Amino acid sequence: MVTMKFLAIFGLISLLSSTTLNTNDSEPSLSTTELIQPPVETYLTKNVIVLVIDGPRFSETFGDSSCQYIPHLAKDLAPQGVLFTNFRNNGKTNTNSGHAAITTGVYQSIKNDGTELPKYPSMFQYYLKKTDLPKEKAWIVASKGKLNILANARKKGWFNSYMPSDYCGPSGNGSEYSADIRTWDVVLNKLEIDKPSLMLINLLEVDTRGHSNDWPNYIEAIKRTDEYAFQLWEYIQNSDHYKDNTTLIITNDHGRHIDGRKDGFKEHGDRCEGCRQIYMLALGPDFKQDQVVTEEFEQIDISLTVAKLLNFEMPTSKGRLITPLFE
Ligand SMILES: [Zn+2]
Ligand SMILES: [Zn+2]
Repeated sequence: MVTMKFLAIFGLISLLSSTTLNTNDSEPSLSTTELIQPPVETYLTKNVIVLVIDGPRFSETFGDSSCQYIPHLAKDLAPQGVLFTNFRNNGKTNTNSGHAAITTGVYQSIKNDGTELPKYPSMFQYYLKKTDLPKEKAWIVASKGKLNILANARKKGWFNSYMPSDYCGPSGNGSEYSADIRTWDVVLNKLEIDKPSLMLINLLEVDTRGHSNDWPNYIEAIKRTDEYAFQLWEYIQNSDHYKDNTTLIITNDHGRHIDGRKDGFKEHGDRCEGCRQIYMLALGPDFKQDQVVTEEFEQIDISLTVAKLLNFEMPTSKGRLITPLFE
């Protein structure tokens, strides 16, 4: 995949049109330098999918030098993208706060039971407001029902406005938890039918097996999500609609306690290194390939970077652009 960037010299166009249309001779004429705007960068990315694998500990993913539980991520996907090994949840290390940090670009301590909306608008809302696209073009599909909070925001002017479509939990109505295999059917269906240009997916099984203190099934769940991530990238590559214009970001909402801390891998939610450290792997037509970045970036940087790719603004984001992604 050859990455290319196009520079559109809108400044020149505005200079020409101003010259043509300005017939009011009493106005002082503007100098050329005042009229020319900086070039606007546009990207090949037209669609962004964020896959959030819920709660694997870094020591069982890329922190394990053999990457034995994530063969596809390590051997098939990472060589095609940029891997961030010092990626962080620097806020509250729970499901809803972690996901909300990803979608809003702000760390907020929000209740983890699905009864509290994020305060700030998400990338979905900013995107739909900017583009005026129908809500079917922005989808949240989550195994955890409580993640339907990601579709809305409390902030004045955004509550119940510009909301994306969501299907969270087994019935899609924001209650209970669904097996990932059922969530995956919904994901494939939405990709096929609605062809969203912005999508977030949550897969829960790693987290729930961890909470069950079931090490073998926790590991099996990490392997299964590795398969899902690979399937998703394969789907994109085999789709006329998504191929070569789609960015895929794979990350986590939080890690789990390091061994020796409280219950170890069984729980998460504090500030220990095991809970904070996650990974981000990003693949897409505008990104470098086969790069590993050890510089620290964090969850709140994701939505601002998505906004840059899809050409909208996130004025409430506290994140920064993840510049090492780009050529
Ligand atoms: Zn959990
Ligand atoms: Zn911890």
